[in-house]
Amino acid sequence: MIPGFLSGTLHDRETEYFIEHVQLCEKCREQLETQCMIEQTISILNDKSIPYDASSFDMRSLLAQLIEDRTEELKRKRLKTVFRLCILIATLTLSVLLILDMTGIFHVTSYLGGMRHY
Ligand SMILES: [Zn+2]
Repeated sequence: MIPGFLSGTLHDRETEYFIEHVQLCEKCREQLETQCMIEQTISILNDKSIPYDASSFDMRSLLAQLIEDRTEELKRKRLKTVFRLCILIATLTLSVLLILDMTGIFHVTSYLGGMRHY
C-alpha cells in the first residue's frame, strides 16, 4: 500500500484507511518514512537541476505535508460527491413532480399557482 500511497494511485477508501492506520501504527509509519525517503532521494538524484542539500531534507515534515494533502484531497472529493448527490436528488424530485403533473395524478403547476383551478 505504501508505494500506492506515495504515488497517489490508491483508491479513496484505501487512502483513508492507510492514513488512519499509519497514524496509529508505529511500524507502518516507520516503513512509510523509509519508503518515502528512498523515493525522495531517487527523485532528487534523478533531477540534476536541484542541488542535493541534506540539511534541508526534512523527512518528517515532508511526510506530514503529504498526509495532510491527501486528507484534504479526500475531503474535497467527498464534498463534491455530496453536492452532486444533492443536485441529482433535486433533479429527480423535479422530474417525478413534472411526470406526475403531466399524467394528471398531481397538478404541480396549478398547485404552485395557488390552486386557483380548484
Ligand atoms: Zn501497521
